[in-house]
Amino acid sequence: MSGKFETFVAGMTTLLELKPSEAELLPVCGALLEHLVADDDWLPDSHAVSNPDTYCQYLLYRDPEARFSVVSFVWGLGQESPIHDHRVWGAIGMLRGSETGTAFSRDEETGKLIEGDSLTLEPGMVDFVSPRLGDIHRVRNADDTQASISIHVYGADIGAIERRVYDPETGDPSPFVSGYTPLAK
Ligand code: FE
Repeated sequence: MSGKFETFVAGMTTLLELKPSEAELLPVCGALLEHLVADDDWLPDSHAVSNPDTYCQYLLYRDPEARFSVVSFVWGLGQESPIHDHRVWGAIGMLRGSETGTAFSRDEETGKLIEGDSLTLEPGMVDFVSPRLGDIHRVRNADDTQASISIHVYGADIGAIERRVYDPETGDPSPFVSGYTPLAK
C-alpha cells in the first residue's frame, strides 16, 4: 500500500489511541480522510474493480483491535445500496466520480421511512454517518459515465458487524452482515 494510505492509517491509529469521543474523533478523522482523497493516485487497481452486477466493498485496512476499518466502495453505472444503517460512526470520502447519499429517519409510531436530505459528493468531499448524526441512508452512483469510488472509514470491523437493511415501503428492518468483496485473483 502506498505511503499516503499508510500515513492515513497511522493518523487514525494515533487518534484512536487517545480514546476520543465520537464528537472529538469525527472532525480529525474527516480532516485525515479529506487529505487522503485529495489525490487519486494511491488506490491499488485491485481495490478499484467494478462488477456489473453489484457494487463492491473492498477491505483496505482493519485495525488489529477492530477499532476502525477502511473500505473502498466501487459503484458501477446505475448501482445503489439498499437503505441501511451502520450502528457505528462512519466517514465517507469521495475519491473518483460522484455519489449521492440520501438520509432517512423512521417514524416512531409506524416505523415507516421518512426521506430526508440528499447530498452529492464530488472528489475531495467528506461526509459522516452515525447513530448520533443520522445513521440510515441509501447511496447511489451519481456519475452516469463511469464507476465511482469512495473511501469509507468506520468505527468497527464494518464487514463483520450485524446491521440492518430497511424495506423501502414498510420500513421493516432485516439483519445483515455486509462482509467484504473478495479481491480478484
Ligand atoms: Fe452506508
